[in-house]
Amino acid sequence: MPSQTKDHFTRTPRTTVRRRPARARYDRQTVHAILDEALFCHVGFVVDGQPFVIPTIHARLREVVYLHGSSASRMLRTLAEGVEVCLTATILDGLVLARSAFHHSMNYRSVMVFGRAREVVDLREQRRALQAVVEHVVPGRWADARHPSEAELRQTKLLALALSEASAKVRTGPPLDDESDYELPLWAGELPLRLTPLAARPDPRLPGGIAVPSYVTGYERPIGPGRPKPEV
Ligand SMILES: Cc1cc2nc3c(=O)[nH]c(=O)nc-3n(C[C@H](O)[C@H](O)[C@H](O)COP(=O)(O)OP(=O)(O)OC[C@H]3O[C@@H](n4cnc5c(N)ncnc54)[C@H](O)[C@@H]3O)c2cc1C
Repeated sequence: MPSQTKDHFTRTPRTTVRRRPARARYDRQTVHAILDEALFCHVGFVVDGQPFVIPTIHARLREVVYLHGSSASRMLRTLAEGVEVCLTATILDGLVLARSAFHHSMNYRSVMVFGRAREVVDLREQRRALQAVVEHVVPGRWADARHPSEAELRQTKLLALALSEASAKVRTGPPLDDESDYELPLWAGELPLRLTPLAARPDPRLPGGIAVPSYVTGYERPIGPGRPKPEV
């Protein structure tokens, strides 16, 4: 049982990892790092008995995950009512090729957060949250981008989901084959995968003389604990 300190999430019946519990992480550092590295998340909720799982951008500020979108979004309107939410974020680190078909797997880091979101109505918090969303996707962009007008803010809904009930699960390392299969004469191992930017494509309407910012040419996701080291 992890110590229930400010550094760890308290395990609850719905955040207790039952399958492969050794892969469970409840420390905030790991949960934060996965949320910060994942570009987007999936938000699950139920409307009239119908489950929906919606991909959407998120951003974390301290112990809050912010979601944003159009005021007309069904997802955001539903969440604003305070329904139960399940948010997941996943980073795929590699494919794991075992000797047996059965033991093939993936290396991953993922987070699951439960709770009820609240609508952000305070103007200053709205601006902070929007800044966090932009900076989450492209660190450095907020300083350059035109900031939202009052009219744009009115068309945007922002939701805050407190990080109070969360778990992480992390798989790393080689395949785990049955002992009798290690003798088989076939390749087995890991194929690491990484999100890698390609060359940026300037907007065809970009006036001449505007250089590609360094946060674009040097784009990379933040590196957190648990991320496998690159093999050079
Ligand atoms: C990577 C990524 C990031 C995104 N980020 C944001 C964000 O930050 N904010 C935001 O508001 N939206 C974002 N979207 C779009 C989001 O997934 C929803 O389409 C949008 O929020 C509208 O939600 P809604 O509940 O109003 O959908 P509705 O239009 O009410 O959904 C009606 C139906 O349309 C279909 N549908 C809706 N969305 C999708 C989808 N994404 N893929 C396939 N079918 C769909 C489903 O069948 C759904 O039941 C993102 C999508 C992706 C893939």
